[in-house]
Amino acid sequence: MRHHNLISLDPGKLPELRCRLLIIGSGIAGLAAALTAAAAKADVILVTKDKLTESATFYAQGGIAAALMEGDTPAAHAADTLKVGQGLCDEKAVEILTREGSAAVQRLIDLGINFDRLDGKFHFTMEGAHSHRRILHGNGDATGRLLEEFLIAQARQHPQIAIHENHFAIDLLTIDNQCHGAVVLDTDYGRLMSIRADATILATGGAGQVFRETTNPAVSTGDGFALAYRAGAVLRDMEMTQFHPTTLYLAGAPRFLISESVRGEGARLINEKGEHFMEKYDERGDLAPRDVVSRSIFKELESKQSAEIFLDLRHLPPALVHGRFPNIGKLCAFYGIDIVKDPIPVRPAAHYFMGGVKVDLDGQSDVARLFVVGETSSTGVHGANRLASNSLLEGLVFGQRAVRRALDCASTRWQRILLERPETERSAPLDLNDMRSSLKSLTWRNLGVFRSAELLAAAEKTIGMWERYVLGEQFQARAGFELQNMLTTARLITMGAIARKESRGAHQRVDFPGEDDPPRHTEQRMEV
Ligand SMILES: Cc1cc2nc3c(=O)[nH]c(=O)nc-3n(C[C@H](O)[C@H](O)[C@H](O)COP(=O)(O)OP(=O)(O)OC[C@H]3O[C@@H](n4cnc5c(N)ncnc54)[C@H](O)[C@@H]3O)c2cc1C
Repeated sequence: MRHHNLISLDPGKLPELRCRLLIIGSGIAGLAAALTAAAAKADVILVTKDKLTESATFYAQGGIAAALMEGDTPAAHAADTLKVGQGLCDEKAVEILTREGSAAVQRLIDLGINFDRLDGKFHFTMEGAHSHRRILHGNGDATGRLLEEFLIAQARQHPQIAIHENHFAIDLLTIDNQCHGAVVLDTDYGRLMSIRADATILATGGAGQVFRETTNPAVSTGDGFALAYRAGAVLRDMEMTQFHPTTLYLAGAPRFLISESVRGEGARLINEKGEHFMEKYDERGDLAPRDVVSRSIFKELESKQSAEIFLDLRHLPPALVHGRFPNIGKLCAFYGIDIVKDPIPVRPAAHYFMGGVKVDLDGQSDVARLFVVGETSSTGVHGANRLASNSLLEGLVFGQRAVRRALDCASTRWQRILLERPETERSAPLDLNDMRSSLKSLTWRNLGVFRSAELLAAAEKTIGMWERYVLGEQFQARAGFELQNMLTTARLITMGAIARKESRGAHQRVDFPGEDDPPRHTEQRMEV
């Protein structure tokens, strides 16, 4: 069952705000867009469904990649990005990411952002599959927080930017394949409102919460994928979900990310017997790309060599460990693990969506006046696998770029747009928490690191059954809308994974172990 809207109403009867540019989401991509638009004197409304800081950006640890160290070049950064993307990257997009990325990070430095230094010079760290040390970081392992707070401080001061926290975007206002804004729910007061805009930028991040095991914060429920899909935009390569190999794996503890830069500084993966095992699976060892390391961990577990996998930092100088990874150290200590003395139990978890809403090099989607940036978009920079620390960079670069074209959109005439969905009768009470955890278990089991026709067909069948009563429901609050968006995102991942009958990068089919030639994208669009 497909619905084009989650609610049915006449937005003309709601309180209405108008602006030149509506931005949905307050991670790095949304904030970069807001600041760029405000600098061009456009009036901006930025809505975000939780506190302003609540985003994947805030929790990013390792850093942001930029070819700024002596001896490094944007071309070398581009070559590494293309290699990891395994034939599915858009070369032009990668060229823009790496060239404009260096300049954009340099601008942040010029504005005074305080990346970590060693002996007075910026400290660039190493991460998997990078050929140079090019990762800038902040507060040791809290780079996202540094960036988010730096951008928020500027946005809060800017008179052109009106910020609305706790405002959840439910549906886009679209007519004749044009987007005119969104209907949002003010979750503090339970009030709906309509925001009309000449252009709308979706910067809603990813959807790790769709999976049982994830590094993502609670806000990452795939709302932007589902909003754009319902509005008729094309989504591309949704099966390309990246599983981060090393998250803390302890009963009852959050799946806290143990950043790749920990391995960049020399930490090693070991099995229960204390043996290094990565070289058995890949010559690049512990710094192989994330998809390779995640699969290797599962293979090692399956080979019965070990029931547990650990990340070992015991051979590293304690001063380096404490200086570089203070937050990881603090969190682990809370669960009785001293990271300089004890190996850390780790497992892979869903981390990042390479696919998303298909956009051109300026963030324009297939729906006029609708732009998509950051993790919600598919610009083509990540291909089949994302190079570590390229995601914050993508949000920064393409968040800024989209604004130029968005502000080219002419002013719109007010038009009556009705949100409609079929009337449904509620037949049974729905336990949202149970539904949510059933969905997360299904995705982890059937759409995880290894996939097959059998697992995918079973997922499609179960999701279809759930859609019949969950998408048919008319919810009033954020949790219900999020569940509907998670279900739609799970459907998009499943259909992409069924369509991709090959193994490439993050998408591995045990029944199709080889790569197709030439590489191709999968695309999905809801008939409007
Ligand atoms: C633990 C962790 C560590 C990471 N470490 C790194 C790293 O070191 N380097 C790197 O490059 N990348 C890293 N990543 C990935 C990176 O952080 C994200 O891909 C990136 O921050 C995404 O930015 P974004 O602006 O697109 O989305 P986000 O930062 O996720 O922001 C999305 C925003 O949209 C809002 N939103 C969502 N839905 C709605 C809705 N319906 N209505 C209103 N608002 C909505 C959210 O509340 C949030 O404010 C990490 C990710 C995680 C989870």
